[in-house]
Amino acid sequence: MPQSPAPIVLATWSFAIQGAHNGWAALESGGSALEAVCTVAREAEADPTVDSVGFGGLPDATGRMSLDACVMLAPERCGSVCAVGHHLRVTDLARLVMERTPHVMLAGDGADSFADAMGMPRECLLSPQACCAWERWRAGESALHPKDQGVDSGALTPSLSSLIGERHVPHDTIGALAIDTHGVMAGACSTSGLPFKLAGRVGDSPIPGHGLYVDPEAGGAVATGNGELVMGVSGSFLAVECMRRGSTPAEAVREVLERIERRFQPLVDQQIAVIALSRDGRWSAGALRPGFAVTVADSAGIRAVAPDFVLRENGSQ
Ligand code: ASP
Repeated sequence: MPQSPAPIVLATWSFAIQGAHNGWAALESGGSALEAVCTVAREAEADPTVDSVGFGGLPDATGRMSLDACVMLAPERCGSVCAVGHHLRVTDLARLVMERTPHVMLAGDGADSFADAMGMPRECLLSPQACCAWERWRAGESALHPKDQGVDSGALTPSLSSLIGERHVPHDTIGALAIDTHGVMAGACSTSGLPFKLAGRVGDSPIPGHGLYVDPEAGGAVATGNGELVMGVSGSFLAVECMRRGSTPAEAVREVLERIERRFQPLVDQQIAVIALSRDGRWSAGALRPGFAVTVADSAGIRAVAPDFVLRENGSQ
């Protein structure tokens, strides 16, 4: 009998550190991988200082908030929601879509109505800080420094801080992958999407195979950054397919990033990062540019670390 891989929680960005603590505690008390990844996402959704997920996230160009989320256990066990306008707990809502409906994705008003029917409270999603940032943006002042795009801040360790340089406003999708004590893998992601996006825009995060993909026969992957680029190559699906064909997680992540680079010639302010976890518990993270951090919780502890590699080390075009 092959041995089960050791439990682990991985998440995008260092602002996942508190969620990773809680997700790891859930695993240690016998909780499922699904519970662990939902815990990581839920924590970020409730944190007003995270300006890219849940309450505190930056709105679209019209000042309206819309949230996207996805959970996945396997190709046949997946749920997602997008363009949710009135409910904060979108990862839990995506899980309910998976567990209580025959569908994979609910969008917009339909997703909000489903949340109402599930007894979830309607909440204001726009934080006062996010509203101010939007007003500044609308007035023509940049609410985000261009360098804030794709640069981690949050709970930087001194070594990570020196790798990354200055501290920046945190942003970007929370994406989590976990393996529990039974060897089951799960993934989740949650986002408010790109700041000041066109109304109606939906990115990669809620779409299985783009922002998140899990197949227990091969592994899981999650992406963060400019969703349009990830969607062009079905980024998380591509990473998992590479692992299915024998690539290591690092090779799989590199393939996704290199393919994006070849096809898109990304702009200097466009960042992509990918985490891949193989079914036997090996993992890797990589990013297009400097500034990404991955949060890890395993038997060695809970920490935020730099990715294994950065494609454009100097951040140039
Ligand atoms: N990937 C997300 C999106 O495009 C945003 C992000 O990760 O920052 O909606």
